[in-house]
Amino acid sequence: MSIINYYNETIGENKVNKIIHAYGVNNQSKYLERMHKVYLKSNGVKLPKKGKLRIALEYLVKNMGKPVHIDDIKEYVINEGETLTGTDPLQVRHLSTQNGFYIVKGNNKYEHKLITLICELPGFIKEKRNISINNKIWKSIMKEYDYMCVNCGSKQDDELRWKKTEITKLQKGHMDPRKGLTEDNCIPQCQFCNQRSKDKHVFDKRGQVIEII
Ligand SMILES: [Zn+2]
Repeated sequence: MSIINYYNETIGENKVNKIIHAYGVNNQSKYLERMHKVYLKSNGVKLPKKGKLRIALEYLVKNMGKPVHIDDIKEYVINEGETLTGTDPLQVRHLSTQNGFYIVKGNNKYEHKLITLICELPGFIKEKRNISINNKIWKSIMKEYDYMCVNCGSKQDDELRWKKTEITKLQKGHMDPRKGLTEDNCIPQCQFCNQRSKDKHVFDKRGQVIEII
């Protein structure tokens, strides 16, 4: 029997651990990839390829349907060879809010519970899947705009067009300041224009103001 059929037959009884067992106890990773491909990918859910969040997710898969404490997740992640540093080193909630996995709070704010891998977090919509902009994405955005401010045309590292005493440093501007800074909501602006429009204007891709808030 294929793992998917097996899953479909047993989901009503929530015998998830049996499924994982059928797939190989230490193979949450492959199981997760398979489920993601079949059920979640087309709905915009993003599977971390590797790293601490991926390992945390695998631990949640292993404990699907049960609330697990953040300290247990951290311990597991560290045992798998990751280093956790900083004040808030493991943002498990990103797996749901940004990646779209159906993970909810457990009995308290320190517990996380993975509900299922056959559907995404309710309310998670594709538009939200563009995660925050990393360096690579930001570089590609600047390149798309020829390293110029979308509003005034000031060029990166040249003098500002309207304030010639300053050097242009392009900033990640929001097209719509009410939304998160994602790839599809980002335009390059010089510090002058970014400051001037701050949270008041909604722009289109070409930097035209389409709404005043
Ligand atoms: Zn500008």
